[in-house]
Amino acid sequence: MKRAIYPGSFDPMTLGHLDIIKRASEIFDVLIVSVLNNKEKTPLFSVEERVNILKEATKELPNVEVDSFSGLLINYAAEKDLHIAVRGLRAITDFEYELQLAQVNRLLSKGELDTVFLTTSLEYAYLSSSSVKEIASFGGDISQCVPDFVAQKIYEKFNAKR
Ligand code: ADP
Repeated sequence: MKRAIYPGSFDPMTLGHLDIIKRASEIFDVLIVSVLNNKEKTPLFSVEERVNILKEATKELPNVEVDSFSGLLINYAAEKDLHIAVRGLRAITDFEYELQLAQVNRLLSKGELDTVFLTTSLEYAYLSSSSVKEIASFGGDISQCVPDFVAQKIYEKFNAKR
């Protein structure tokens, strides 16, 4: 069984993330999408909310599991006996950061954790969670960026803040 992990903040999950999830789920027998509990960032959605969004969005994909983790990815991957991480590449700007992350993970895990990259589908190349949040905070249209049920949750968050 080829199992892989797709780690990320997913705050919130976008159609770009979902595209990577669908494509990776066709390559691997099991894909574990795992939300990073990053204490340094102030997220819009709690880890539990992000996990629930991912579960709802992937409910039709039987080989996709959703989980969360804190701390180093290599420790979590070792605990779960996972040896492949999936990451998405949008543009050249992602490359440097992702390359460094992949190399550090390979080094720290002594070769136990390798990273596989999927290039974004072109229509999502400029899509990021932060731009979705910025557009939504000004009441803009995010219907092409996230599933409808996620758009609703994002607007609810910003309305509650007002
Ligand atoms: P991070 O893990 O850096 O906090 P995200 O949770 O936003 O970032 O993204 C997780 C992974 O998904 C990263 O590898 C990122 O490059 C990728 N990703 C984000 N948005 C897209 C997109 N629109 N298309 C393809 N990959 C994406």
